[in-house]
Parts: sequence; structure tokens; C-alpha cells
Amino acid sequence: MGSAARRRMARATADQALDSFDYVAYMGQHGHEELATCVDRETGLRAMIALHDTTLGPGVGGTRMRRYESSAAAMLDVLRLSEGMTYKAAVAGLPLGGAKSVILADGDEERDPELRAARLHAFGRFVESLGGRYITAEDVGTSPADMRQIRTATRHVAGTPREEGGCGDPSPTTAYGVLRGMQALAEDVLERPSLEDVRVAVQGLGHVGMSLAEQLLRDQGAVVMAADVRPAMVREAQERFAGERGFSIVAPDEIHMQECELFAPCALGAVLNPITIPQLRCRIVAGAANNQLADEDRDGELLRQRGIVYAVDYVINAGGLIHVMQDVQARGAWSDADEATVTSRVAGIYDTVRRVVERARAENISPHQAAHAIARETIAAARGRA
Ligand code: NAD
Repeated sequence: MGSAARRRMARATADQALDSFDYVAYMGQHGHEELATCVDRETGLRAMIALHDTTLGPGVGGTRMRRYESSAAAMLDVLRLSEGMTYKAAVAGLPLGGAKSVILADGDEERDPELRAARLHAFGRFVESLGGRYITAEDVGTSPADMRQIRTATRHVAGTPREEGGCGDPSPTTAYGVLRGMQALAEDVLERPSLEDVRVAVQGLGHVGMSLAEQLLRDQGAVVMAADVRPAMVREAQERFAGERGFSIVAPDEIHMQECELFAPCALGAVLNPITIPQLRCRIVAGAANNQLADEDRDGELLRQRGIVYAVDYVINAGGLIHVMQDVQARGAWSDADEATVTSRVAGIYDTVRRVVERARAENISPHQAAHAIARETIAAARGRA
């Protein structure tokens, strides 16, 4: 059997395992509006767009390109991710709804630049078919160059390269938002007026983590311990921060156990779970990674019981979305004024994080429950006004 046939067989088997996934019932329970699917005969593109809630505005969310075990697994992922985007936009006070898309990659085939370009163009047509109710941007597995390709078929795309009038990579903005959230919690929880000499353990030195480490060290005078599983990123950080006081590298499997004030997950999801939470030696968890809690209710509560304050992932990492929203408004002519607007809006993450933890404290609930409540109330109020 050839490798393509084996892949099809594996997909079919996994599909059977997820056979019981009743997506219409799931959408009803979670309040989704629409799930669109595209199978493009000419290019072989297989993609899905989920619109969760567009009460506050058009649904915005990145395009994730990856291999899935089955189409049912992709469907569950896109539905789950789109719901998260609704909460993120609502808590950040943005006039945007929640959406997401996935391209079901074949792996080998997307490495062929011509086929990739053709599929992304076809994906652009798919986005266009929703008439602006969905706006896409970069996500795991896609890049600003891919956004440029999507733009050949639709204008409902953000995050194209800076030199082409787009907003470019939003990661430094995301890092700045995380920093603002950290400042809020340093004041609120640690009763420290700034991050000077505050110890921060940064997990992951990728686009966001590296920029966060830099801002913490150079602008704030914080003490930074950092880890990455990729030796190249560790080397880059060592060279970049060679002369900085208070920078050190630790092993990736020990970063969450460092004695520090803040732990900043900036790598993968599900890093906060019943194994890692008892090992934490920090007072605050505040990082950019999406879906940090392996199980929201269980692990949010475990953190609360340990007295560790959790700056909810989608609250503190909203800088990227704020950046993307400005890009939509800039319409391909990104300027210094847009940059300044974004910086001032992202600075507001300080207040949002504070509002969330204060509400959690007042109601004796965990911060992620408080954030969900704020999001739901914001949407309900908008529905009431409509
Ligand atoms: P990235 O891929 O550039 O960086 C992630 C880094 O983490 C990589 O260098 C990787 O080697 C490292 N890593 C992976 N596993 C690790 C481990 N076990 N221990 C230590 N390091 C590990 O991604 P990014 O753009 O920096 O995003 C980081 C996280 O933040 C992701 O979860 C992403 O979804 C989320 N996020 C990013 C943005 C943004 O603007 N880029 C916005 C919102 C949320």
C-alpha cells in the first residue's frame, strides 16, 4: 500500500473513532453560528471555517495549517478555537467576533511551493465566499507570505508583510501585551511598583518568548530564566543577551519548576496540568501560549487552591489580535500612526488583566471563570442593544 493510501486508511480509522462526535449538537451547546467546509476539486484544498459568534463584529481568527488524524479531529479543533476567539475579542473590548479556520495539510504536498500557492489562492476564494463575515490572519503553520497568497483572492485577510503595506508579524506586540499584564499583576499580587529585579521564567524563546525576554531584560530590569527545546533558539538568546545582567538558560523540563515570581508559558498548550501545577514555584502564571490549562475547570481550580494567580491566556495574549484588528482598519496602508494606536490599545491589557483578577477575587472564582463571565456579559449587552 502506498503512503497516500495508508494516510487515507489512517484517517478513515480515526474518523470512525470520532464517529460519535455529533458536531451539530456540539455547535448548539457551544453557541456556534456556522461551520463551512471547502473541498477544492482543482487543487485538493481541504479546509473549514468556523464562525462562533459574530454579535460584536466580523469573525476574526487565524488560519491553522496542519495535518489532522481525521476530518472530525479538524472539525473539533476549528470549533473549539473559534469559540476561544469570541472570548478573546469580547474581553479585549474589540468590535470583533470569534472565528477560526483550518487547512487540512497533506504534509508533503504543501511543501511544493506551487501547489501551496494554488491551495492558498483557493482558500482565499473560500474566505471571500463568506462576504467579509470572516477575516483571516496568520496562525500555527501559516506565515505572512501565505497571507499574501490568500490576498490574491480576497481582501478579508490581515497580517501580510510590512513591506507590502500590511502589519507584519504581531509577535512583538503580543509580547508587549504580556508584559503589561505582568506589570498589573506585579502591582496587584506582589505589591511591587515595577518588574525591576522580579524573577521571570520564560518557557519558549520563539517569536513571542524572545521578544518578551528582551523587553523584560532591557526595558524593565527583570531577572529572566529561559528555556527552549531548540538549541538554535537557545544559542540566539545567549548571543543576544550576552551582556545582560540577570539572564540565564535552564533545561526545558525544569523551566516551570524555577523559583520565581512569574512563570511565562510561551511555547505549547496544556502546560498547566495536575503534574506540573504541584511543581510550580511561582506566584503568578502569565504567558502568551494558547490553551495553557489542560482542563480549564480542573486546572484553573488547582492553581487557585495553590494560591497562584493565573493571567488567563486569551486575556493576556490579546495583543496580537489588537494588532490584526488595526491591520484590517489600515486596509493595506500600515503607518506609524497605526503602530502608535496599537501600542496604546495593547497597553490597556494592564487594566483588563486587573479587572479579571479583581473580579475573580471578589467572587471567589478562578480568573478564567471571571474572564468567561465578562465575555458573556459583553456579548449579552450587545445583543440587548441590537
Ligand atoms: P513559536 O513557534 O515562534 O515559539 C514557540 C517556541 O517554543 C519555539 O521556539 C519552540 O522551540 C519552543 N518550545 C516548544 N516546546 C517547548 C518546551 N517544551 N519547552 C521550551 N520551549 C519549547 O511561537 P510563538 O509565535 O512565539 O507563539 C508562542 C505561543 O503563543 C503559542 O502558543 C501561540 O499560539 C501563542 N500566541 C502567539 C501569538 C503571536 O503573536 N505570535 C499571539 C497569541 C498567542
